[in-house]
Amino acid sequence: MSNCLFCKIIAGEIPSGKVYEDDDVYAFKDIHPKAPTHVLVIPKAHVATLSDCDDPALLGTLMNRVRTIADDVLMLAPGYRVVINVREGGGQEVFHLHVHILGGKKLPF
Ligand code: 5GP
Ligand code: ZN
Repeated sequence: MSNCLFCKIIAGEIPSGKVYEDDDVYAFKDIHPKAPTHVLVIPKAHVATLSDCDDPALLGTLMNRVRTIADDVLMLAPGYRVVINVREGGGQEVFHLHVHILGGKKLPF
């Protein structure tokens, strides 16, 4: 989608701290990290919110990549937190589905 911030990051039109990319997903460092490690994992296909995504294959691939990026790329062996904010009430600010991976310290709930 041409006016979407995260689509522009995928396209390389806006710089990002890329940590992983394949045919289906792109992962990059959050610009305002809320933990020592804070990475966003996004599908390359534009989907506005989790609620808009009735696609088990896309969601399955996305979550499986979250798992392998956290363990194999970010090396978060002690553990990590996964967050998806959904629409304004859930704190979503960018309307391209994204999964936050937070780690690098013991996280209070
Ligand atoms: P949300 O609140 O929508 O779940 O999370 C959006 C996240 O995107 C926020 O944590 C915010 O810091 C991050 N973000 C917003 N704009 C940019 C940007 O231009 N580059 C990067 N790397 N992260 C961004
Ligand atoms: Zn997008």
